[in-house]
Amino acid sequence: MSAHPLLMIPGPIEISDAVFAATHIRPASHLDPSFKASFAAALRGMRTVWQAGPHHQPFVVAGGGTLGMESVATNLVDPGHTVLVVNTGVFGDRMAEMLRRRGANVLQIGAEIGHDVPLESVRSALHDHHPHALFATHVDTSTGVRVDAQALAALCRETDTLSVFDGICATAAETFAQEDWGADVLLTASQKAIGLPPGLALWMASPRAMDARRALDCPPPMSLDWLQWLPVLQAYEHETNAYFSTPPTTLIPALEVALGELVAEGMPAVFARHEAAATRMQAAFAAMGLTSLSTAPARTLSALLWPKGASADALPAIKAAGVIVAGGLHPARKTAYFRVGHMGAVTRDPTALRRTIEAIGTGLAAVGGQVDLAAALEAFDAR
Ligand SMILES: *Cc1c(COP(=O)(O)O)cnc(C)c1O
Repeated sequence: MSAHPLLMIPGPIEISDAVFAATHIRPASHLDPSFKASFAAALRGMRTVWQAGPHHQPFVVAGGGTLGMESVATNLVDPGHTVLVVNTGVFGDRMAEMLRRRGANVLQIGAEIGHDVPLESVRSALHDHHPHALFATHVDTSTGVRVDAQALAALCRETDTLSVFDGICATAAETFAQEDWGADVLLTASQKAIGLPPGLALWMASPRAMDARRALDCPPPMSLDWLQWLPVLQAYEHETNAYFSTPPTTLIPALEVALGELVAEGMPAVFARHEAAATRMQAAFAAMGLTSLSTAPARTLSALLWPKGASADALPAIKAAGVIVAGGLHPARKTAYFRVGHMGAVTRDPTALRRTIEAIGTGLAAVGGQVDLAAALEAFDAR
């Protein structure tokens, strides 16, 4: 990865050269045989990346992650249903608001900013209120908190509650095995760890989740309706013709390439690569003197308190040193911290990760921040 400023925010992220090349094509017809073959390969790739079973249903729809969240909320929940939101940040707030707009009775379990939610409270809420579905954010991008998705999915199985995970800042980086864990929906967006430009919402529905859609009294908005999309996705998986709404014919071939890279590497290796990169980055940040906002840190991003002497005015200085990082996002603590993404192709490139540590240390020092860059680089190199 080269001379342009490195994009180290929690999405959009740097994409691989092969994915970049795959986006540079003339838009094909949505019925072109090679487009249908790409779409079929992408849907097969999703089953592997999600670790889903043959009866799970992948969905790919043009739009952002927020569209995917809304599709899931409106396809699983009827007005009047009780639902539980495990809220670890801004994206939990967003999910809760969507569910309220759907007319659901929304219960929430939150935590102090930067903290995970105690599993015992979730278990009690599930047993006391028997919600129709639980919604959790695997990694909340606003706080850097990762929840224990496997444990949450298991608790939901105990009470026969549908489990839904917003994996937008986690999928294809944080360990997740949809079928083995019994999770009902895992959704993401193309510009996060999966490593594409923005523009696609992707999710995988379990057979139970599909049944829940069929059982709804109040159908979802048509463009978000799983039953409108289902025949189209089934047709593409069999490389036959179908149409509901035109798919993005340049992004799907890129999706085939991005998923193909992950499938070739193997998901255990992909997850281990992200864990190794996070360990290295987070050791360097700690040695630099930076404190994590999150007490349950994700492997896809670090949310770091500004050190003494520095504030958001360091962002342009870090950019001048060659790396783009993000400011705070949670409205209650927005000015107290910044965020660094470390997911996708960049985690294959230690030089880029080291450059990130260097630019952050240089930028923070330039505005008067008290940091120890030499110690950070030493910690990085020691791993
Ligand atoms: C980025 C993100 C979203 C929103 O995705 P958009 O593509 O911006 O709509 C939702 N949830 C999480 C956890 C995210 O990281």
